[in-house]
Amino acid sequence: MIYLDNAATTPVSDEVLDAMMPFFSEKFGNPSSIYALGREAKDAVNESRETVAKPLGASPSEIIFTSGATESNNLALKGVCQSAANILRSTPHVIVSSIEHHCVLDSAKYLTKSYGVDVTYLPVNEEGLVDPQDVADAIRENTALISVMYGNNETGSIEPIAEIGKVVAAAREARKKSENVLPIVFHTDAVQAFQYIDIDVDKLGVDMLSLTAHKFYGPKGVGLLYVRKGTKFSPQQQGGAQERNLRAGTENVPYIVGMAKAMQLAAEHRAEAANKITELRDYLIERMKEIPDADLIGPKDPEKRLPHIASFLFKRIEGESILINLDLVGIAASSGSACTSGSLEPSHVTKAMGYGDMEAHGATRFSLGKMNTKTDIDELMKHLPVIVAKLRAMSPIK
Ligand SMILES: *Cc1c(COP(=O)(O)O)cnc(C)c1O
Repeated sequence: MIYLDNAATTPVSDEVLDAMMPFFSEKFGNPSSIYALGREAKDAVNESRETVAKPLGASPSEIIFTSGATESNNLALKGVCQSAANILRSTPHVIVSSIEHHCVLDSAKYLTKSYGVDVTYLPVNEEGLVDPQDVADAIRENTALISVMYGNNETGSIEPIAEIGKVVAAAREARKKSENVLPIVFHTDAVQAFQYIDIDVDKLGVDMLSLTAHKFYGPKGVGLLYVRKGTKFSPQQQGGAQERNLRAGTENVPYIVGMAKAMQLAAEHRAEAANKITELRDYLIERMKEIPDADLIGPKDPEKRLPHIASFLFKRIEGESILINLDLVGIAASSGSACTSGSLEPSHVTKAMGYGDMEAHGATRFSLGKMNTKTDIDELMKHLPVIVAKLRAMSPIK
């Protein structure tokens, strides 16, 4: 099989698995227990917290371990809104981009449906980029949270997070002058970006940041939420004092250890991995020119693209049909986000970029990882032109 769906998930690397293994068996203690076995587990969680804080430029006390980015994003949106509602004694306003992962968009919709929270969905341009000026224009007196993702999982667009951070800092200053006491929190989903982009929470000016381990060779079901010291939010899970009373539940020790190892390795090998994957992606983009009417979507400027993602619109055919045909020859790719594939809904990301429903159906994403080689791309390009030509011959749209 040729796996070209690394933005959906990646396999656990050997080093990560080795680091995790003892915590399933001989080091099985509960970190809350006071005897040696428990303390050993607690030490492992604390060490992991230090390890994951480092590549973010954060301090360990600013890390909350979660079950993944879905939980982290839910916690950020719901936790900040609940706390803001308590301060305001009325419903807050939230700003999110229209190309966020469904776990952000659906949390925003839930807040509107359940509590009447007003949400502004920021537009993107035809390259899938948010304009920081639009963020500035959208901020109101009761804006409690702004959430814009760092790297998009469908197009690979890199959003101007540091610029938006400056907009938020200016809004914060203006609030001080007008004696508006509502904090304004800036959150980013950095799941796809972490592996390939140096991240420093201070340089970005973010207050909250979400990650999930399985997008960079760690296990599925573990993630984190960075929360800047002093940021107000209400915990969403009760029942224990774990994570400094901010996220109840026995810590998933082996997975936390695995995530820490995966983050450490990703940060250590970041530059070389980014170079290698960029080269491979550019080869894929170049070879794709052999197929007529296959348009690369997302930013034209390679600097504004994540190294590992390239999505193409194959005109007059549906992405789903391409995926099924690729699967028949042992090639795994995706139509945008794994959560929407199978639903036959056109991607909200491509639609937000201005493509019509019909065009948005043709989007196919190839996302590369460390196992991929040029040979994989050559193999893909042996089959894909044939598949596209066959599907187009059958297509009712000419
Ligand atoms: C995968 C992904 C998520 C969700 O991560 P889970 O591990 O499923 O919780 C959130 N945001 C982005 C951008 C992703 O790619």
